[in-house]
Amino acid sequence: NSFNEIDLGKGLNDNIRRCKYVKPTPVQRYAIPVVMAGRDLMACAQTGSGKTAAFCFPIISGILKHHNVGSGSPVNHSGVASPIALILSPTRELSCQIHEEARKFSYETGIKVAVAYGGTPITHQLHKLEKGVDILVATPGRLLDMIERAKLSLKKIKYLALDEADRMLDMGFERQIRKVVEQMGMPPPGVRQTMLFSATFPNEIQRLATDFLSNYIFLTV
Ligand code: AMP
Repeated sequence: NSFNEIDLGKGLNDNIRRCKYVKPTPVQRYAIPVVMAGRDLMACAQTGSGKTAAFCFPIISGILKHHNVGSGSPVNHSGVASPIALILSPTRELSCQIHEEARKFSYETGIKVAVAYGGTPITHQLHKLEKGVDILVATPGRLLDMIERAKLSLKKIKYLALDEADRMLDMGFERQIRKVVEQMGMPPPGVRQTMLFSATFPNEIQRLATDFLSNYIFLTV
């Protein structure tokens, strides 16, 4: 009933307090323990339900507990950034919002968060990537552009969150999303966790869930 009761790791619990979040929203209450327990998740949740924290908290907590912060972050010797977590979102606006929140939640943890979206010159975003990134928030087109330019690899991704998946499909991103997931390769079961968030659950989203998630928990709030 309170974030204090969930062991998200000290750095993150401190930041949650700083953000003045006390009580988890329903999607947070049910989604966070599922992801922390290592399961994939399909969550039907609306904008305003608190879904950003629902996927950011377990990602940040997981990175702090199970990965060397910065291990995916410094650009490796080949000059390719290799983040641990990827959050895909349909629009520049939503990506920027998620980026802002993820940065607040990661404050003073050492976790580096970066954002990538189209419609703006890529140079500045590439420059940020070169400085290292643990969590990347991105729209699908710009993300693929970075991969094609050999500036980004998704081979180390351990957490994948797709936000507003129904909107991404409405915007015609299905092919690009599938290409992104292909780029991650097929790790052994349990190595990568995937979270799919959508306001609605039509056939196309059910197909994505079947294709991207394994042995997942279905949550509707
Ligand atoms: P979201 O659905 O993620 O866009 O969140 C909607 C708004 O609710 C944002 O302004 C969040 O900062 C805020 N929020 C999310 N979770 C909580 C919480 N547990 N306590 C207080 N505010 C929250």
